[in-house]
Formats: sequence, C-alpha cells, structure tokens
Amino acid sequence: MKLCVLGSGSGGNCTLAYSDSSAVLVDAGFSCREIEKRLKTASFSPDKINAILISHEHSDHIKGAALFSRKYGVPAYLTEGTATASEGALEKGDFLRFIRPEEDFKVGDLEIHPFSVPHDAAEPVSYLISNNGRVAMIMTDLGHVTVRAVEKTRMANLVMVESNHDVELLKIGPYPFYLKQRVGGKLGHLSNDACMDLLANAGGAGLSTVIFAHLSRHNNNPNLVRLNADTFFSGSKVAFEIASQDVCGKTHEV
Ligand SMILES: [Zn+2]
Ligand SMILES: [Zn+2]
Repeated sequence: MKLCVLGSGSGGNCTLAYSDSSAVLVDAGFSCREIEKRLKTASFSPDKINAILISHEHSDHIKGAALFSRKYGVPAYLTEGTATASEGALEKGDFLRFIRPEEDFKVGDLEIHPFSVPHDAAEPVSYLISNNGRVAMIMTDLGHVTVRAVEKTRMANLVMVESNHDVELLKIGPYPFYLKQRVGGKLGHLSNDACMDLLANAGGAGLSTVIFAHLSRHNNNPNLVRLNADTFFSGSKVAFEIASQDVCGKTHEV
C-alpha cells in the first residue's frame, strides 16, 4: 500500500492511499479541479479512485467531495452526523454511504476502520486503512489524545497525525481570544507537544513512517516541528515528513 498527502492544513486536506488494485481519497477539502491537479503531480489518475472517505463536515475536508464523487462516479463514505451537519453540501445523493465508528468496511482490497475523535464537529472520525497486513493511520482534527487514539496509533506502520500548533505561538499569535480557546481546547486541534507525546507513548515497534499534518500557518512553524522530530527520531529508522498545505508530498510505501 502507498500513501501520499496531496495537501494538509486549514486551507484544505486530501490524502491518497492505494494498493495495486484499489484507491481512496481521505477527505476532499480542495476544489475538484485542485484535487485533479495534485493527483496529476502524484502521477495518479483520478479515474483510479474508488471512494472518498470523509472525516467530518468542516469545509477544509469536504470542499470538493460532492463534485469529485459525481464526476468520477465514486461513493463518499461518511457518518450520518457529518452528512446532516454539512448543511446540504453532502446531505443527500446516491453517492453517499453512511458508516459508523468502529464498524469496518472494505473498498476493494483496502480494509477501512473508522474511529471517533474529539473535535468540534457533529460526528467526526479518523481512519485506519489496512492492506496486506500493513496499516496506515490518518488522524487529524482532534482536540486531545484519547485512549482510543493511542490504541489505534500502536497498530499503525504509517502514522499521519495532526501537529497543529505550538502552544506558545498560539498564545501570542494573531487569533482573537475565542478562537485561541477553540483551537487549543479539548475539541480543537492537537498541539505539537501533544502530538510528540502521542508518538512517544504509542509509536509501536512496527512504526516506519510519520507524517506531521494540518500545521497551522499562523500558530506554528514547520522548522520547529522538524527540529523536534529530528531530535525525537535521531538514531531510529522512522522516516518522517511534514505535510504541506501548498504542495503535494512524497509517496510513501506503508
Ligand atoms: Zn481541518
Ligand atoms: Zn475540523
């Protein structure tokens, strides 16, 4: 199985995961045209996508989902809560497939395991995707680390995890007070420290790749994340990448 982050951040999220015969997009938070453009950069034809897996209703995760689904005739999997809360964007249509947290389903030979995460959305989920005994986790948009998040992280060979903000930068940054409260709150976004704590506690022996994702433009600095990761992973065989909002990332073998 391979995985490539087409882009990640509050301006749009979309990740490609595929085996030899099946492919999914996790979230479709760019316009359909932008997703097509980034797939081209990843040398992957949009015709080969079999499904979209939606995490939650925030526009940076669903912006291009309806159009992409219709244009390429592929289903969008999402919780009922997400559909209702999308206020029309993904509420109706024969391309929707409702899922429940902790209930597995398959897209071709990809086994998908959705699980709940704490975030200020109606019924948000993150995903484990398995193929041939290898497991990728795509987990962004969570306010804090739960027992469940730790359990899932332990199972993954590739962990794509949110490293949204530096706590100090958020404190002194440009956001109004209510937004600082929201982002840093229990249902907001994961801080760099919380992300590293998770990896320290739950990075399993099988972990080979970490992708730091959903970095805030205003309250974080990729160099800071890189520095911490360099120190953390020095001497280990784990490879890491910092996902970009603007450009398509590397293609990783999971
Ligand atoms: Zn988001
Ligand atoms: Zn969100």
